[in-house]
Amino acid sequence: TFLPAILDGLKTTIRHVTHYDPVTQQYPEEKPSLPLHYRGVHRLNRDEKGRVKCVACMLCATACPADCISIEASAAPPDWPDRDKFPATFVLDELRCIYCGMCEEACPVDAIELTHIYDLTGETRESMRFDREKLLAVYDKTKDDPRDPLRTRRGKLGPAADFGTLPTVAPATQVTAGDRS
Ligand code: SF4
Repeated sequence: TFLPAILDGLKTTIRHVTHYDPVTQQYPEEKPSLPLHYRGVHRLNRDEKGRVKCVACMLCATACPADCISIEASAAPPDWPDRDKFPATFVLDELRCIYCGMCEEACPVDAIELTHIYDLTGETRESMRFDREKLLAVYDKTKDDPRDPLRTRRGKLGPAADFGTLPTVAPATQVTAGDRS
């Protein structure tokens, strides 16, 4: 009476053996194909003059549910008449972050954004605390990648922007925690 069930089980086994469809990805040789709005390593954007775009309003730090952003504001230099303050220090703990994107949502000047970079590595916890210069370096590495930024670019492209037609881009730029430029 068990024979039909056993045969049924064998049939399933044979079907899986003969129609093997591998799901394991051979990373790092094969890079994952990321969702369009993937949120990876942060960057601090520069303005058109190459200065840090952040105006030290603290909205990102306030919005952050993981409490991983700390900013020390200073009065802007006299030759920066377009703002009152700038971040004398800006530190973001990439290990503590939950990559929710609330910081980029909160920023009134699109100064902080999450990039497509997912393969972040570091040897110490301290090296994963990204300071202003390191976050600016991520901007320099990703600024020409059409996938970055997508979310904060929405307003500039308009609601009808078709993000599905963006060109395919080479696999993510790897940023190591010791990386500076
Ligand atoms: Fe904080 Fe979320 Fe931004 Fe990470 S992505 S820094 S958790 S607000």
